[in-house]
Amino acid sequence: MRLTRYFLPVLKEDPKEAQIVSHRLMLRAGMIKQQAAGIYSWLPLGYKVLRQVEQIVHEEQQRAGHIPLLMPTLQSADLWRESGRYDDYGEEMLRVTDRHKRDLLYGPTNEEMITDIFRSHINSYKDLPLTLYHIQWKFRDEIRPRFGVMRGREFLMKDGYNFDLTKEAALHAYNRHLVSYLRTYERMGLQAIPMRADSGPIGGDDTHEFLVLAETGESEVFYDSQIADLRFGDRQIDYDSVEECQAVLDEFTSRYARTDETHDESVFNQIPEERRRSARGIEVGQIFYFGTKYSEPMGATVVGPDGARVPVHMGSHGIGVSRLLGAIIEASHDERGIIWPEGVTPFHAGIVNLKQGDPSVDSACEALYRDLTANGLDVLYDDRDERAGAKFATMDLIGLPWRITVGPRGLKTNTVELTCRRTGESQEMSPSEAVARLQ
Ligand code: ATP
Ligand code: MG
Ligand code: MG
Ligand code: MG
Repeated sequence: MRLTRYFLPVLKEDPKEAQIVSHRLMLRAGMIKQQAAGIYSWLPLGYKVLRQVEQIVHEEQQRAGHIPLLMPTLQSADLWRESGRYDDYGEEMLRVTDRHKRDLLYGPTNEEMITDIFRSHINSYKDLPLTLYHIQWKFRDEIRPRFGVMRGREFLMKDGYNFDLTKEAALHAYNRHLVSYLRTYERMGLQAIPMRADSGPIGGDDTHEFLVLAETGESEVFYDSQIADLRFGDRQIDYDSVEECQAVLDEFTSRYARTDETHDESVFNQIPEERRRSARGIEVGQIFYFGTKYSEPMGATVVGPDGARVPVHMGSHGIGVSRLLGAIIEASHDERGIIWPEGVTPFHAGIVNLKQGDPSVDSACEALYRDLTANGLDVLYDDRDERAGAKFATMDLIGLPWRITVGPRGLKTNTVELTCRRTGESQEMSPSEAVARLQ
């Protein structure tokens, strides 16, 4: 992409409404625009990162054997009357009436709808296990939308639902989700710690939240410092193996890690004092096992091996896709701007032309742009007629992992400069070597 043809409305000044760094940087980098409290347009750069995050979520869900589908944002109130949640959900639910005076709502989550899909089509235990998920916009009329996309009212969520014959099978689905979430967050350059949590309006007993530690996080958390040393890494897991998934769950939940709702001082105090940590965290996901809470009242049953009809055991599992952009920036930035982890960056590299209009510099930039693109890299070429300082500031702000700087002086000896955004280190090399390095 050539910057002169792109739409990247960067702001020079810090927007006053932004209280935390990720919100400030997303506005300054021209990623989002607020349209109403907690409701945002995703401008091209923000949209590109959102799609990257979504892509990783899709890949990891499908690696775990979960099946994508897409449910609508608007739902019928009658479905929610069946589960009893239409009245229980309260003011966070946005209720809408259509021209025929039928009650609808903008979905805050989809347990009822997916249970309805299940009961309409599935009758036998032979069709289990099944996990369906979608990535769809949700609406929750939060009292205090704030921190940009971190606590929006309209936000993008991945929500998945497992259907199993027995509690044991459903707990395997729970463990499988835990494993796939660990992989998902690490691919985005994040460490998200599973913590024992409270189930809230979804209901159920077994639940973990995934928290990214950050001073600006809205959750208060307590943990044993040893838990923060664990990494999932590139282990190969057989998602069908009950033992393998259980072993990962055991490992990642073997140390104390809880949110304030489930925190227990007396248990916490048994940890050696130097390992006790209290901190703040951003909730980027949550998994639940809730058994037959929805299948029973809504009649989602299957015929079991013995011929008897039984309600299925279910769980639901959410990832805050749009919130993740804020969490990634909170975890990865410096005073000059964002530093995108490679896995989610909107462009792999940027090319800075130090003397736009100079035929030799222009043609060297064009050649680099062409070669990198031909190698399958997504590159942003700053071809504006601007001062070098302004171009560097834009590249630093939008946080691409690599910058190639091309100027008349270097070109005399056939060199360009390759700079790493994270370390700030620069190296001079020939254009073809720069292309090779970015492979
Ligand atoms: P929170 O405690 O932050 O209000 P939640 O527990 O109500 O979140 P869940 O029902 O667990 O949210 O939804 C799954 C995920 O969706 C959350 O872990 C979070 O990452 C994301 N999420 C929830 N509410 C919002 C919101 N208002 N804006 C952006 N993302 C959200
Ligand atoms: Mg909430
Ligand atoms: Mg929560
Ligand atoms: Mg939650």
